[in-house]
Amino acid sequence: MGAELSGKVALVTGGSRGIGAAVVETLLRGAATVHYLSRSPADKQAEWERRAADAGAAVHWRQTDITDEDAAAAAVDAVLEEQGRIDVLVNNAGITRDGLVMRMKRADWDAVLTANLTATFVVCRQAVRAMVRARGGSIINVSSVTGLRGNPGQTNYAASKAGIIGFSKSLAKEVAGRGVRVNVVAPGYIDTDMTRSMNEAIRQAVIDMIPLKRTGTVADVAELIGFLAGDRSSYITGQVIQVDGGLAI
Ligand code: NDP
Repeated sequence: MGAELSGKVALVTGGSRGIGAAVVETLLRGAATVHYLSRSPADKQAEWERRAADAGAAVHWRQTDITDEDAAAAAVDAVLEEQGRIDVLVNNAGITRDGLVMRMKRADWDAVLTANLTATFVVCRQAVRAMVRARGGSIINVSSVTGLRGNPGQTNYAASKAGIIGFSKSLAKEVAGRGVRVNVVAPGYIDTDMTRSMNEAIRQAVIDMIPLKRTGTVADVAELIGFLAGDRSSYITGQVIQVDGGLAI
């Protein structure tokens, strides 16, 4: 990516690790000014700051628990107050609390729905008004192939990720007339903290199911998000794009 996001302001939830950190790096490479929300800062924060300054941009960590509705809304407002705009919003933060439905605690259901789906709604609601007023913006919500195909032991996670798809398509229709685009990225098995806990036998079984015969990298997902963030994708909205090595074929 060249400096095609120069002058744009991006907000990324869950930018401290995994896919979100790769998204921050991709947007910085595009010369965007990036704000990210997470409970802890990225290990690379100091390095990112140096790199952003070289590109004439900036990167800011805003310590936020996005499951706290008031805190999440306040973080969005703080970015709008400081920057006057949000051009790109990436709702990436997400969690799992796996278990078979027969044994699933209500608390595990609620935690996953709140972090993955409700927080996406809260952050979108807070940011979209400014985008509508500016007559432009790109929202990218991160779902999962699990939201499309289902997965045993992940009813809560699958429900949250399928919810993101319905939410995003509806929002895309609400705001398209004002020049705001909303798309969904649905990753397959990506090497991050979230999937590293899998045992080796399961991991090999997963790879056997993937037509491209490898798990994905965070960069595989971030590249697509970078494309959807910028003007090269200006005629794409309401789509669910899978980055899964062909898993969902
Ligand atoms: P990680 O567990 O590696 O990172 C999760 C990120 O979300 C961290 O930055 C974490 O920051 C942040 N986060 C979690 N809870 C909160 C919270 N309450 N408030 C603020 N930030 C929070 O996850 P991945 O990178 O693997 O996943 C990123 C997204 O991609 C998720 O939505 C996930 O569902 C989705 N996905 C991942 C796949 C995979 O194979 N890895 C496959 C399909 C989808 P901190 O802990 O500092 O708050």
